Amino acid sequence: MLKIFSIAATAAVAFGGAMVASAPVQAEQFITIGTGGQTGVYYQVGGAICKLVNRGTKDHDIKCTHTTGGSTKNINGIRAKNLDMGVAQSDWQFHAYNGTAPKQFPDGAFKELRAVFSVHPEPFTVVARADAGIKTFADLKGKRVNIGNPGSGQRGTMQVVMDKMGWKVSDFALASELKSSEHSAALCDNKIDAFVFTVGHPTGNIKEAASTCDVKLIPVTGAAIDALVSENDYYAKVSIKGGMYTGTATDTPVFGVGATFVSSTYTSDETVYQIVKAVFENFKRFKKMHPAFANLDKKAMIKNNLSAPLHPGAVRYYKEAGLM
Ligand code: GLU
Repeated sequence: MLKIFSIAATAAVAFGGAMVASAPVQAEQFITIGTGGQTGVYYQVGGAICKLVNRGTKDHDIKCTHTTGGSTKNINGIRAKNLDMGVAQSDWQFHAYNGTAPKQFPDGAFKELRAVFSVHPEPFTVVARADAGIKTFADLKGKRVNIGNPGSGQRGTMQVVMDKMGWKVSDFALASELKSSEHSAALCDNKIDAFVFTVGHPTGNIKEAASTCDVKLIPVTGAAIDALVSENDYYAKVSIKGGMYTGTATDTPVFGVGATFVSSTYTSDETVYQIVKAVFENFKRFKKMHPAFANLDKKAMIKNNLSAPLHPGAVRYYKEAGLM
């Protein structure tokens, strides 16, 4: 966190030869929230939170900005103290806290990680060109597939699925690592046959592809998925409602995780308290900021999909508001 002290509040001023203490020091705190690609939902989550926080800057002196990145990049950014908070998939929150994914989190368990609240559900979504001959997840083998940019949640979760399927990157005709903001154009330009994206629905990102060329959502089912869901509490079978995107009229069965909002003990209780308060006291407004937030429920948000302990600043607000 960056603190900037206003000139009027410097510690002391010279007056008539004597040093006189000035008014209480007022610090402006700049906090940064790590999100995801500009056309995804995380970016909207960060934008919505910052908008609500910044409406109250005159009361709490916190100014909020948000950056792009993805789940694992955000958590590593919090650990490196480059970010104060971030959005992350529930599976990656679990792995970061428990140190169970050395590839994504090479420094081991991040015990200072703290959960703040959970947000929208994120189905593991596969979007394919209608002419690519892809009907099932297994059909992706041998195709040109965007497996996600390093640092994104989908890149990591795709690797978990690939490992369970016994697939290697070399099993694809092409395995690209484009950012989510680039994959729809690549799909419609016929540079790839499909992309994977763990994301809330509906998202403008997939609408971009569905309104530009013929695409469809592919079911993510089969024995490997059944095993992953039964072995790991942070995965669940879900379906993506039909009718949200041109070309996909019926529900698509997949598995999914939840989007969560996280921070760490490096961010003060007071800061986290103010941020949670800004969101929860303006909850109706927050829910209207993105269609993927439509079903959010305060009580579920402070309970579901959280594997790291809750941040004490968040707990202070939840108790004060009678939610705990
Ligand atoms: N779940 C994705 C990730 O962890 C981001 C989804 C989004 O941008 O909304 O990187």
